[in-house]
Amino acid sequence: MVYPIVKLGNPVLEQEAADVTEFDTPELRQLIADMFESMYAAKGVGLAATQIGLSKKIAVIDCSNGENPEEKLVIINPKIIKVEGRQTGEEGCLSIPGFREQVRRGKRVTVRAQNAKGDHFEMTGEDLLARAFLHETDHLYGKLYFLHISALKRDLMKRKVKKLQRAGEWD
Ligand SMILES: [Zn+2]
Repeated sequence: MVYPIVKLGNPVLEQEAADVTEFDTPELRQLIADMFESMYAAKGVGLAATQIGLSKKIAVIDCSNGENPEEKLVIINPKIIKVEGRQTGEEGCLSIPGFREQVRRGKRVTVRAQNAKGDHFEMTGEDLLARAFLHETDHLYGKLYFLHISALKRDLMKRKVKKLQRAGEWD
């Protein structure tokens, strides 16, 4: 099923999600399948469980936009263990639709996480994948990408969102 995406203003987005402790269950497999479906429907390259209103440390990533099944990744209870280099590029978030900002991130990022079976693994990604590891892991700790832009731009973004909320165009 396709879940609606939770938008900025919902407190679940700004709270640390709970660790996943049960693995290899039909419920977890279904949830992951639904998260991929929801992400593709929203045309994103990453989706955190908090973005469908679920406080669990699970994120799905597919930098190929569904073109290459080998690029489908699930990271559960992820931790960023290494960040190298720098890249600056445009970043957006499905939970803050209509906004994009230049964000400086690491260029080469290593994440340690668990898969749906509970196996631990480490993976290093570069460029877009590095950015996705950072963006999605941030989500699971209640952090949104606007924490990585200037306070001035962040306040402007929040003011615009408040305006949309008041106009009933943001829910
Ligand atoms: Zn996001």
